[in-house]
Amino acid sequence: MNPWMAKAVVLAATAVMMAIRAPHGRRSRRVKIAKSGQTSLETGLLVLAWVGFFVPLIWVATPAFSFAEYPLRAAPLAAGVACLAIGLWLFYRSHADLGTNWSITLEVREGHRLVTQGVYHRVRHPMYSALLLYSIGQALVIPNWVAGLSNLVAFVILLALRVGPEERMMAQQFGNEYAQYAARTSRLIPHVW
Ligand code: SAH
Repeated sequence: MNPWMAKAVVLAATAVMMAIRAPHGRRSRRVKIAKSGQTSLETGLLVLAWVGFFVPLIWVATPAFSFAEYPLRAAPLAAGVACLAIGLWLFYRSHADLGTNWSITLEVREGHRLVTQGVYHRVRHPMYSALLLYSIGQALVIPNWVAGLSNLVAFVILLALRVGPEERMMAQQFGNEYAQYAARTSRLIPHVW
């Protein structure tokens, strides 16, 4: 199959993701930060996430990763499109449910509320589940070992190093309310983890 189909899917998914995030990014700049959990580890993880995000776009626009190309097949392309679509839907829903409590990094905002409804009812990190699905989708859609895996590798590292500090920050902020919420929910996949 022509790799341009994969390139069109990557561009469309990236545009949808940016359109979902943009209004929340603009609004979050206006909500005051009450407590910042921004460490040098967090800064490193954000840089890694940006690199993981941009490598597929470099693949779309240039032949820089042509040494790692393999043929595109219909089944992984279709499965990848499904993962991207479900991931983007969950990304949209988790932003809608989190509202002004969202931050790109670890922060407590002024008037921060613990969100436990909507997609936060069963899992504590639905936005990370969404980004994991999105990264798996890209790995399936992009017929290139470097560009296909870049987002997934970056995101798995981010997940491994951020979830612990984030949960500790939330537990410190919300005490027993968070402990009870954590006891009745899973982290990423309902009833699994
Ligand atoms: N880990 C969550 C949120 C990611 S955004 C998810 O994957 O859906 C990161 C910010 O969201 C953190 O700085 C924290 O302040 C905030 N946050 C995380 N879980 C929250 C919750 N249940 N209610 C309110 N804010 C939350």
